[in-house]
Amino acid sequence: MVTDPAPGEPEHPASHASDRPRDAELAPATNQAWFDRARRVIPGGVDSPVRSFGSVGGTPYTVERAQGPWVWDVEGRRYLDLVQSYGAVLLGHAHRAVTEAVCHAAAAGTTFGAPSPGETLLAEAIVERVAGCDQVRLVSSGTEAVMSALRVARGATGRDRVVKFDGCYHGHADVVLAGGGSGVATLGLPGSAGVPPGAVADTVVVPYNDVPVLDEQVACVIVEPVAANMGLVPPVPGFLGALREACDAVGALLVFDEVITGFRVGPGGMSTAGGVVPDLWCFGKVIGGGLPVGAFGGRRELLEVLAPEGPVYQAGTLSGNPLATAAGLAVLGHAAAADYQALADRVARFATALRETMGRRGLAVQVPVAGPLVGLFFADEPVTEYAGARSAAANGRYSAFFAGMLQRGIALPPGPYEAWFPGFSHTDAVLDEVIAAAGEVAGEMASPRPS
Ligand SMILES: *Cc1c(COP(=O)(O)O)cnc(C)c1O
Repeated sequence: MVTDPAPGEPEHPASHASDRPRDAELAPATNQAWFDRARRVIPGGVDSPVRSFGSVGGTPYTVERAQGPWVWDVEGRRYLDLVQSYGAVLLGHAHRAVTEAVCHAAAAGTTFGAPSPGETLLAEAIVERVAGCDQVRLVSSGTEAVMSALRVARGATGRDRVVKFDGCYHGHADVVLAGGGSGVATLGLPGSAGVPPGAVADTVVVPYNDVPVLDEQVACVIVEPVAANMGLVPPVPGFLGALREACDAVGALLVFDEVITGFRVGPGGMSTAGGVVPDLWCFGKVIGGGLPVGAFGGRRELLEVLAPEGPVYQAGTLSGNPLATAAGLAVLGHAAAADYQALADRVARFATALRETMGRRGLAVQVPVAGPLVGLFFADEPVTEYAGARSAAANGRYSAFFAGMLQRGIALPPGPYEAWFPGFSHTDAVLDEVIAAAGEVAGEMASPRPS
């Protein structure tokens, strides 16, 4: 469908996104109508499975627009959004600095197939902020960043084996789509149909927060330095440092997947906040400012294995896309150290209040935090690895909580294994609304009305 701009339409339509005329075809839609229509042409109606509400039930809201901490669905309903595109949005939706940067870049052409200044500027902004990371190469997603970093690790060490932690998510490349066995270190089993056993034959899956025994077959250990894809599971004190030592002892490389933590837990990421420096980094989400970007990086001599300098091939038609680099630069340029600290302080107060308000209604919850990242487990004890996250998820309480919150206009991630992403647009007043709603929902859950 082609829509011509109406006469007199502003050159930068984004600045008028909220009052643009609605397309005739959009007008009568409900969330249900849009979801039904999507399901006819998109498998499951979604382009990424968690969006389908499969684990919480109900019909997903279809978002028409967003601003700051809010999103509006096609029915005109507003939600206070703690999804924030699963962490891709840090400053809040449609932040003016990002919108203007993207519009400005788009007007100068959307992709060239030749180097453009934005790539170098974003790479500089990243390496400036991440001590020990001399170079990065830009890609178009976190998945690609991980795939490429693992290829570099294997190419540089001449070894095949990759160790990953159960419950950590590293995107959907075959090699990291491996499931663990019964909580002990096992050679990976395919974690998805369509992944042949051979693709994960060199992937070893071990429990999080437990330093594995490594040997000289291991090319690298990849870890989320704060696990944020099994709910939020921070590293126990000493875990990352001990992992660093275990890698060094056998000459294996340590890969931090900072696709979520990078430029979110602080001005750099976990490697700058926690003091443990990996050999390779993977970034994504925040560095694209809501556009598709990923990056992987490390020491110069490691990255020299990459083509065109070295024998490890890696490429991308849209890598370093000028819109995406402009958006990412706007975000990094806008986020000052003081803002990060203030946000972390806000989130710490929020987590305490959430725990208290739910506890007062008799619901035992764990509310882990890591910088501005926050999670919620319906569990009596802190969760430190995937088995604990799974048993907390199994009681089904998250779904009831999610539904009650959504009814009150609070959009939480639609599944118990996702972190929540309050960002710079979530003020104390906004977070207080979440607490108030959570208290009501907890009250209902603790003493359900007789049916
Ligand atoms: C989201 C995520 C990825 C994958 O990034 P995509 O952009 O979705 O491909 C990789 N690692 C972690 C830790 C993530 O959270």
